[in-house]
Amino acid sequence: MFKRIPGTKDILPEETSSWQTVEAAARRIFAFYNYQEIRTPIIEEASLFNRTLGSTTEIVQKQMFLIHNQQDTYALRPEATASIVRSYLENNLEKTSGFTKLYYIGPMFRLERPQKGRLRQFHHIGAEAIGSGQASLDIEIISLAEQLLKNFGITGYKIKINSLGCLKDKQALSAALKKSLPEKLTRLCADCQLRAKHNVLRILDCKNQDCQKIVKTLNLESAHLCPDCLGHFQEVKCGLSDLGILFQVDPQLVRGLDYYNRTVFEITHSDLGSQNALGAGGRYNNLVRDLGGPELGAIGFAFGVERLLLVPNTLNQNSAKKLVYLITLGEAAKSAGIKILNQLRSAEISADMDYLNKSLKGAMRAANDAGATFVLILGDDELKMNTVSVKDMASGAQRQVAIQNLTEELK
Ligand SMILES: [Zn+2]
Ligand SMILES: [Zn+2]
Repeated sequence: MFKRIPGTKDILPEETSSWQTVEAAARRIFAFYNYQEIRTPIIEEASLFNRTLGSTTEIVQKQMFLIHNQQDTYALRPEATASIVRSYLENNLEKTSGFTKLYYIGPMFRLERPQKGRLRQFHHIGAEAIGSGQASLDIEIISLAEQLLKNFGITGYKIKINSLGCLKDKQALSAALKKSLPEKLTRLCADCQLRAKHNVLRILDCKNQDCQKIVKTLNLESAHLCPDCLGHFQEVKCGLSDLGILFQVDPQLVRGLDYYNRTVFEITHSDLGSQNALGAGGRYNNLVRDLGGPELGAIGFAFGVERLLLVPNTLNQNSAKKLVYLITLGEAAKSAGIKILNQLRSAEISADMDYLNKSLKGAMRAANDAGATFVLILGDDELKMNTVSVKDMASGAQRQVAIQNLTEELK
């Protein structure tokens, strides 16, 4: 027998209702903020990700699902931002609509060693607003992310924000780090010793305890920001406070990807353990230009759907379904029953019946297992009088209803 490959998951019927609820709630909220859905292919040229995420990132070096095809190398998308900017440019969205607000829902792929909270195929719900560098857009994006969590009924999350500054500021910060780190270098983890050479900023958000201790002693506190970036960051913080959004400034928050600049944020939940991010995002003002487009500001975020479903939420509570279950006794009742079933479904009432020729007792059990609210029993006696017995499964009450009135009665 075949088995699913490690790090992938079958989302079974008992779980799909909470997936549908989270997706529907997200779509509803995105509409209130005027974000429109975009669906890009899950497969892209691998070089799109090498170029945008940064060739020294963990994703590009170790986690890409690559497909070699004669001269080309394709990759299953490890995240959506690069694909969406590629699509934005390829379809000339900057010419037709200029400023664009998009959202997406779909699977992402990373070739990781499977562990708790990390899958090789996982799912993101995210948004990208492309075409503006205004701080008011940063505020909208972060408030949108929080609004989604509120609608999922998730509490107990923490919002951390930071500003990486512009390209120059990032370089200044890297230089400052390179200067202050050498005497501490040997105490950093093996990964960070490499990062010190290739991408020193990433030492800041290393999860290793020893590395974190060393980073804390560096006293970073936005000192590297130029006046413009400092002003932008100040505006974002004030705007969030005005909306009553609680956040923490975390100077160690850098996010793993090269394309981020200025505002970055992360939303964590303590119930998630060591991989504690529910979602994250930030500005990527250089990405559009880096992919051959004009100089345009942009910002986005993504939530991991699996993680949203791992923390306490209310996504399951609204899914109480109403099902009518029909039990027929005898051949004549069966063919009449098929017509009744058809009539109910046409009237948009969820209805089902027994397909295994079960006894009355067995069929009642099946109705119960299916979570039926009403059971209809149709036998020879009922058929003669053109009625059905309707049993309310909650109260146990049973009564006869004329077939012609059935739809109305059930509604
Ligand atoms: Zn700056
Ligand atoms: Zn480290």
